[in-house]
Amino acid sequence: MDPRRELPSVDRLLRAEGAAPLVAAFGRDVVADALREALTEFRAKLRPGDPPPSERAVLERAAALLACWHTPRPRPVINATGVILHTNLGRAPLSEAALEAIRAAAAYSDLEFDLEKGERGERQAAVEELLRRLTGAEAALVVNNNAAAVLLALTVMARGRGVLISRGQLIEIGGGFRIPEVMAQSGARLIEVGTTNRTHLRDYEEPLARGEDIALILHAHHSNFRMIGFVSEVPLAELVALGARYDVPVMDDLGSGALLDTAAFGLAHEPMVQESVAAGAAVVCFSGDKLLGGPQAGILVGKRELLARMRRHPLMRALRPDKLTLAALSATLIHYLKGEATREIPVWRMIATPLEELEGRAQACAARLRAEGIPAEVRPTRSTIGGGSLPGETLPSAALVLRPPDPEALVAALRRADPPIIARVQEDAVWLDLRTVRPDQEDALLRGIRLAWSRVGAQGES
Ligand SMILES: *Cc1c(COP(=O)(O)O)cnc(C)c1O
Repeated sequence: MDPRRELPSVDRLLRAEGAAPLVAAFGRDVVADALREALTEFRAKLRPGDPPPSERAVLERAAALLACWHTPRPRPVINATGVILHTNLGRAPLSEAALEAIRAAAAYSDLEFDLEKGERGERQAAVEELLRRLTGAEAALVVNNNAAAVLLALTVMARGRGVLISRGQLIEIGGGFRIPEVMAQSGARLIEVGTTNRTHLRDYEEPLARGEDIALILHAHHSNFRMIGFVSEVPLAELVALGARYDVPVMDDLGSGALLDTAAFGLAHEPMVQESVAAGAAVVCFSGDKLLGGPQAGILVGKRELLARMRRHPLMRALRPDKLTLAALSATLIHYLKGEATREIPVWRMIATPLEELEGRAQACAARLRAEGIPAEVRPTRSTIGGGSLPGETLPSAALVLRPPDPEALVAALRRADPPIIARVQEDAVWLDLRTVRPDQEDALLRGIRLAWSRVGAQGES
């Protein structure tokens, strides 16, 4: 007999004792929707011969759906992947001060009001001042993300004209950002020079000397890949010198936009914004939520006259960031100004955390788990920066390692914890890298591990 026939009806479930609190909390119609969806799920899973789900199981699933529908998204998770700028997990976590600034700016604010003069003010004046001070640039402008920054800059500087770029820099970043496609959207004409692995100064000079209509030389950071072997690129400063001879500005798409030197933390040196400004780039653009460690934003710094044209362009109205972004960005930048970035900005705090500290935390966590009969070990591992920054570069770290019979079942159970825990399977074990877990999240981490282990740790998925 087909077990699907025996599924309880929505009406009967609504009359069940267990439904009363749900109806009281969420209302009859929404509960009925949740019950229908739960029944559909069970129906899809049932095979001939299976017993039908109990009323209680359907009600429980409906309650879980209702809880999920009434939880604002995105929800917080514990990142135990060791990938510091994890794009799927929201890239850079914000500092406490940035969170406070968002809360404060969410009320009425002086967003576009000059309190001194009592008249309309500039919405980006404060953040521009900070960016100028920190980067040494003449002017700054903030848009929604770095893709928007590239689009705006190309539209304003090069629409209908040529842009020189090395074939080695025609990059694609995750999420569908491809330099040639953004260039096409802006109406600029792509002029590729050099080859995939080697581009020389003379490759850039040739079309300029030929007298082609060239508005801009674009230099783009590789971000998420590395070229090794028989390769060569022209340093930014040489491009600037070449551009100056032909009166063509150079734009540097830095991607990450580090304001601190990654080399101070045992990593390769990531190009810094201040260096590009000092090398003479007319415009430098970068993300707010990669190594800067702030909210999603695209930041343009550079020559006053060029940025003024961007500020006045109609596209700017569509690309401008909201007040919450500006608040979080200025709070983040103030950390750099005060010299407290490695203490206060989570991305830099994680980069700067010494290995011994992580080992100590991992040992303490493992000891607590073992005391409860969960056989956790501590193993050395490597954290990565992620977010298209410093590919191949790693930081030594310490991981909690669990060896359940079915590692995939355990990582799935960890994802169902509250808050969800994101871990990885490696060498047939589950690894939780503590570099990306805040110390104040450890209790929740251990709670989640305990619960997941009790479900699937010892005996496999039940
Ligand atoms: C990441 C990146 C972008 C896109 O920045 P978003 O802020 O994600 O829009 C553009 N260019 C480069 C070189 C990048 O690394």
